[in-house]
Amino acid sequence: MSILVVGSVALDTVRTPSGYAEETLGGSATYFSVAARFFADVLLVAVVGEDFPAEHVQFLESRGVDLKGLKRVGGKTFRWEGEYLLDLNEAKTIRTDLNVFEHFRPVIPEEYRDADVVFLANIDPELQLDVLRQVSRPDLVACDTMNYWIRHKPRQLRKTLEQVDMFFLNEAEARELSGEGNVVRAARYIQTLGPSIVVIKKGENGALLFHGEKMFWAPAYPLEVIHDPTGAGDTFAGGFVGYVSREGDMSPRSLRKGLVYGSILASFNVEDFSLRRMATVTADDIERRFEEFRHLTSFEVL
Ligand code: AMP
Repeated sequence: MSILVVGSVALDTVRTPSGYAEETLGGSATYFSVAARFFADVLLVAVVGEDFPAEHVQFLESRGVDLKGLKRVGGKTFRWEGEYLLDLNEAKTIRTDLNVFEHFRPVIPEEYRDADVVFLANIDPELQLDVLRQVSRPDLVACDTMNYWIRHKPRQLRKTLEQVDMFFLNEAEARELSGEGNVVRAARYIQTLGPSIVVIKKGENGALLFHGEKMFWAPAYPLEVIHDPTGAGDTFAGGFVGYVSREGDMSPRSLRKGLVYGSILASFNVEDFSLRRMATVTADDIERRFEEFRHLTSFEVL
């Protein structure tokens, strides 16, 4: 199974209560790719500038991410600067320098066009739609967004959603998009816009999965120390989409396990800044934590 991902590859500067990291590897597509790669082939389409460090390209290569679609163009790489205060669920954006991302028009390489799964990471919904025009009908289209697009491109986002099967968003975004205060009602409404599967991320409080008429909830893996929540959402989506792609199966069982794998991958990611923890985590670590998770959430077997 191959997953095409289109999104940002960035240099992030992040401050959290436990420290500070400057100009480190980030971006929605980066986090997604590294997480999804534990389960499936990943084909990355993104743009970076001339200043993008070779070591980051080598890191992605070492994880086996296909980089034929990573374009390097004249100018500076997209930069994001953010801060987390005591509430680690909410990033405060300090600066967004679009740089080469401003004129990014994703061109999907010929050999990527029949990918089985497409993940539209957080970019302008018009570009997301443009990606869907370039691919032959994939088995699954999954999508992420952010409050900026809900506010500034609502019509375009709705048009994209008509073609999306699986939609990831956080609680606040779900409320804003639906105009519903209640998260369950919000998800039910969002399902009427197109995606039959809606995943609402609730940070430390886990994630809710709505598929057809069914509903499932999984907690976040409890951690004593969280160093940097950046990329948790994209890593979560990478774990989830990666797992269900590998299974090649959208059954309720597969979706539920996918949600748990998403939670597990995200829990590793937040243990350190940037992708430092994701660089050392192994498939065995993931399986071990999956079993711990089973134990932690089971109230029938001791
Ligand atoms: P997450 O914490 O999973 O929501 O995503 C964090 C990543 O999103 C960071 O690494 C940023 O580089 C990236 N990011 C922040 N703002 C934007 C934006 N406007 N467009 C694309 N990517 C962004």
